[in-house]
Amino acid sequence: MRQPIPEPLTALVEQLSRLPGLGPKSAMRVAMTLLKWPESEARRLGRSIHDLRDALHICSRCGGLACADPCAVCADAGRSRDMLCLVAEWDSMLALDEGGFYHGQYMILGGLLAPLDRSDADSLDTERLLDRLAEGEVRELVLALGATLEAENTASFIRRMVHDRFPHIHISRLAQGIPLGAEIKYMDKETLRQSLQYRQDMA
Ligand SMILES: [Zn+2]
Repeated sequence: MRQPIPEPLTALVEQLSRLPGLGPKSAMRVAMTLLKWPESEARRLGRSIHDLRDALHICSRCGGLACADPCAVCADAGRSRDMLCLVAEWDSMLALDEGGFYHGQYMILGGLLAPLDRSDADSLDTERLLDRLAEGEVRELVLALGATLEAENTASFIRRMVHDRFPHIHISRLAQGIPLGAEIKYMDKETLRQSLQYRQDMA
């Protein structure tokens, strides 16, 4: 008879293997590593996971994760309230804000729509967006959803939805084109097409 894997280990491996990038084999490797950790470290990790739900809030203004509601960005009176930047996920907001060059507000959409499919539009947080725009402060909505097919599809969906209800709100998107330091000859056709389409006047 084969030696059965002890139940607590099976349970942990089963849960770990649901994490992104971890299959059953790597989940087992993680579990074995955790077993080798000093007990205090392993317990600390367990406690962090346990406390995550209690310690974190979803900001009711932007949908971001924070220790308080509203989050520090939404509560910051120094940020302009007439510009709203729409991102797909919270980590995109972090990346944009890290630069320190944007001083408006954010809103997290909660995902993107698959190309040619509007059936999953309910999965997006469009209510929060429409409620926010209805407050009347936002004059420009910046779509920062990325340059994938999903992002394009979502951007045109949002653009139409917002334009129908709030035609006075200016809708813009992040520029698309050639990244800094890149050479034309190495660019793919679609990037070149968009770079030409969104070309700028030279100042
Ligand atoms: Zn917020």
